[in-house]
Amino acid sequence: MIARELIDSVSFWTFLLSIDRDLAESTRRQACSCGGRLHSANYPRAPRGGPSDLPNGYDHRFSFCCDRDGCRKRATPPSVRFLGRKVYLGAVVILISAMRQGATPRRVRELSSLFGVDRATVTRWQAFWRDHVPSTPFWKLARARLVPVVEIVALPLSLVEALGRGNDPYQDWVRLLRFLSPLTIRGCPSINISR
Ligand SMILES: [Zn+2]
Repeated sequence: MIARELIDSVSFWTFLLSIDRDLAESTRRQACSCGGRLHSANYPRAPRGGPSDLPNGYDHRFSFCCDRDGCRKRATPPSVRFLGRKVYLGAVVILISAMRQGATPRRVRELSSLFGVDRATVTRWQAFWRDHVPSTPFWKLARARLVPVVEIVALPLSLVEALGRGNDPYQDWVRLLRFLSPLTIRGCPSINISR
């Protein structure tokens, strides 16, 4: 199981931020499909669930806007930090949802109070994984890649088990968050569950 302790470690969040910066830079370099240049137009964020000393940079999600009048199209890179528009950090949403499927109710209560997540929010996350994710274009592709290897019984627990089998919890998390990062961008149906 992917270690919960990692979520309390500032270096983990600093590393995820550096991955998001790289993802943002490659989006920016691609330019707009109209040929216009992409300018920074980040979305403000006030994420919950991380350590109290989250590094600077967690108050926004990277995003860009075309600089040509009449286009102004947005380009938002994938993110390993934010899961769509959810308020809680992606890793926390994944961890608690997976624990809910795998652990005893008492463990889930402990974890939820640790991260300040109420029961209604956990229930919404369950619906997100059960009803929304399987219907996305991302998941149809991702599942086809995984199915010969992994039996997908329940999301996200099956994914955590499939991608979190290494010896290094740090790398396990990064692999999992990178894998899920396309779920957070345009081209996938927008994520309407805001918490
Ligand atoms: Zn454009």
